Amino acid sequence: MKNLPKVELHLHLEGAAPPAFIRGLAKEKNIDISEIFDENGGYKYRDFNHFLSVYEAACTTLTGPEEFYRLTKAVLEESTEQGVIYGETFLSPDFCGGGDLTAWREYMAAIKEAADASATAGGTILRGIVTPIRHFGPEAAKPAAMCAAETVGDFITGFGIAGAEDAGEPRDFAYVFDMAREAGLELTAHAGEWRGPDHIRDTLRDLKVSRLGHGVRAAEDPALVEELAESGVMLEVCPGSNVFLGVYEKLTDHPINMFVEKGVKVSVSTDDPPFFHTTMTREYEDLASTFGWDEERFQNVNIDSMQAAFCDAATREAMIKKLKET
Ligand SMILES: [Zn+2]
Repeated sequence: MKNLPKVELHLHLEGAAPPAFIRGLAKEKNIDISEIFDENGGYKYRDFNHFLSVYEAACTTLTGPEEFYRLTKAVLEESTEQGVIYGETFLSPDFCGGGDLTAWREYMAAIKEAADASATAGGTILRGIVTPIRHFGPEAAKPAAMCAAETVGDFITGFGIAGAEDAGEPRDFAYVFDMAREAGLELTAHAGEWRGPDHIRDTLRDLKVSRLGHGVRAAEDPALVEELAESGVMLEVCPGSNVFLGVYEKLTDHPINMFVEKGVKVSVSTDDPPFFHTTMTREYEDLASTFGWDEERFQNVNIDSMQAAFCDAATREAMIKKLKET
């Protein structure tokens, strides 16, 4: 499974930070965040909201573009190791310069430098999706959307929203999604992880996204499942994350296989892998052993993922060709 070529569309850059990397940075900078680690050196937290605050504490070590260059390099080395040929990562102006455009450009240049180096070396090809943090509110999302609109290009290709799903309604963020759409960015939004089908419908109506981060709770409404299959809206599914955070008790309860059977497009991702003690290879192994997914199923899921990827036509074609060769 490790060598099978993979496409990963749902990964938070800071959430992919290896704990040893964050511990090393904290030591370099004399920042005491020892309380976020357990005795084995992994991240430690009680529940989803505590996870968000541990995540934000880990981010305090990422103080400048240089740290993000090193982070991106470390994350891409791991992605390449996991067989990921193409990936997209969420990037938040809130963690990269606090919404200041000049600072944001410097962070993006550093991150893109690491991404370009990975691509040149034959490793994972990476694109960036700019995501304001929902629980910081719609006003804070405006400078983030401005940063996204000003840096749209061959690296920044998408716009989304992450953070606590119960903070506000999708319509509160329609303005920033309209801005991003007008700037030429493709759109996704976290929805249907902690809230149910109504929230997914509101998100699709008000934010007009082509993909949903998670979206798994659509499973509770058969009519919505049918609509998703018809519209081709892709669900960025992160099974290990969902089980770890208790959206589902165990993988056998997870609806990913039902979605595939009903014709809903899905992709497979890790979300925040070290936080959820997972890797892309582990996700694939678990899907194979739980639902009997074989290489052909994974190949189809990955081709679908590339069809929904936020990239140029040449990259899409090259990646699909690579997937079909294996
Ligand atoms: Zn996520």
